Amino acid sequence: QALDEGLEKTKEGFFSKISKAIAGKSTVDEEVLDNLEDALISSDVGAETTFAIIDKITERVKRDKYLGTSELNSIMHQEMAGLLVDAPGSITSDFNLSGMPKPYVLLVVGVNGVGKTTTIGKLAHQFKLAGKSVLLGAADTFRAAAVDQLTIWSERVGVPIVKQAMGSDPASVAYDAVQSGIARGSDIVIIDTAGRLHNKAHLMEELSKIKRVIKRLTPEAPHEVLLVLDGSTGQNALEQAKQFTAATEVTGLAITKLDGTAKGGVVIGISHQMNIPVRYVGVGEKMTDLLVFNKKEFVSSLFN
Ligand code: GDP
Repeated sequence: QALDEGLEKTKEGFFSKISKAIAGKSTVDEEVLDNLEDALISSDVGAETTFAIIDKITERVKRDKYLGTSELNSIMHQEMAGLLVDAPGSITSDFNLSGMPKPYVLLVVGVNGVGKTTTIGKLAHQFKLAGKSVLLGAADTFRAAAVDQLTIWSERVGVPIVKQAMGSDPASVAYDAVQSGIARGSDIVIIDTAGRLHNKAHLMEELSKIKRVIKRLTPEAPHEVLLVLDGSTGQNALEQAKQFTAATEVTGLAITKLDGTAKGGVVIGISHQMNIPVRYVGVGEKMTDLLVFNKKEFVSSLFN
């Protein structure tokens, strides 16, 4: 239900475009397909993913000859869910970390302003609610505000934070955080990093150094590299995903700010094109406004 509310704008936009695309038609013909293509592209699904969906429907039309528009919804529904990447071995379905290494090290990446700090705060809250011990690492030492914001979240949620002076080596903070997590017996260490995309070489170097030093403490770490993207920026979010995945290995996505935007279709395009599972979606500013992503629920919510 929180998902339905969060996706309200996207649903409205999507629906009106799809219904326009098939208005007055009883079968799916060329014109319907063209209109559908426009509708998907303008819902921020993205060109590549739109073509994949249209191709599937075209195949179906050829096979079934007279495909009615009433069946179109259920076919689109299936095809779109099929394009979303599953999240195997996700740590998140119930936040219980069962069978996961301890501490589970979650490295969070993304450019400033996308909702990275908020997402970390929300995650800390959820894991804590599930009875897990959480530790935060403030490795975005580039901006004083980043450390301050994360400190506020650590107080709000009631979890410890490891930080150092502004400008100190991010890898050193990450190392301290993981070391402290091991010493305290924390279940999960969540590390915030700086997201300076305009300096890609620097970003790559910084992230690989962070990874390298924490591996000295626990060779499998980081267990997850979560990229946070702002869903309300539509195709820009997809561009950022491309740039980040070129700079470092990303294992999961969090897509924020889906409330208040009609561009939620971008979730489908990003998941399909990047081939990385979406773990979470952000649907508001409150601690509880982070949902574990489930592709069936997401697509159903768009169509219901
Ligand atoms: P950061 O610079 O990436 O760490 O971004 P912040 O976490 O500071 O978030 C930037 C702004 O986006 C803040 O005003 C947040 O409250 C807001 N924000 C973050 N996530 C969401 C979300 O899912 N929905 C909405 N509506 N706002 C969000």
